Amino acid sequence: MTRKLTPGKLVIASHNKGKVREIAELLGPYGMDPISAGALDLPEPEETGTTFIANAILKAVQAADLSGLPALADDSGLCVEALGGDPGIFSARWAGETKDFGIAMQKVHDALEAKGPDAGRDAHFICALALAWPDGHVESFEGRVDGMLVWPPRGDKGFGYDPIFQPLGHDISFAEMDPAAKHAMSHRADAFRQLVEAVF
Ligand code: IMP
Repeated sequence: MTRKLTPGKLVIASHNKGKVREIAELLGPYGMDPISAGALDLPEPEETGTTFIANAILKAVQAADLSGLPALADDSGLCVEALGGDPGIFSARWAGETKDFGIAMQKVHDALEAKGPDAGRDAHFICALALAWPDGHVESFEGRVDGMLVWPPRGDKGFGYDPIFQPLGHDISFAEMDPAAKHAMSHRADAFRQLVEAVF
């Protein structure tokens, strides 16, 4: 049986202000009172997991343990089929210390070019969400959106790898799309739909 989340305080186990705001907005209608890990001065754990779900769980469990409150964490990234799933859980790290996604997108493109002209352009984004309680109970969810890579990068909306990702059934990239359109079909939306259905 899935454990239900009762209205009240919920730690958002992320130090990324944009992510915390987005998650807080999504959960506001369900009576949750979100607090960021940063506001509680919680440390950022090292992401040592080998899957999105493992990394989300690691962050949520640590935040719930240290705060004594339920905690929600997410972990996401871009997976390119012809690259064996890379950059995958290393999506943020491919952008380097300066978090330059121009560099990260170029790396993806170069790696695909190195595979030769027959390498496919299929890719997907994954978003894993983990909800942990102080007693160690965890619920987790994984959302996904399929698409293909485009080159050169197109559009200036969104973030990260959005300019090179075109979702299936569309002829514009995530970065060319109205944010509301992206949010309705994204991997994050898919994961949140599952979470909302399960725990509220
Ligand atoms: P995380 O913050 O460790 O989960 O890293 C996620 C990384 O994956 C981000 O830094 C982005 O590079 C990439 N990513 C995840 N979701 C998206 C998205 O919706 N659009 C573009 N890039 C994304």
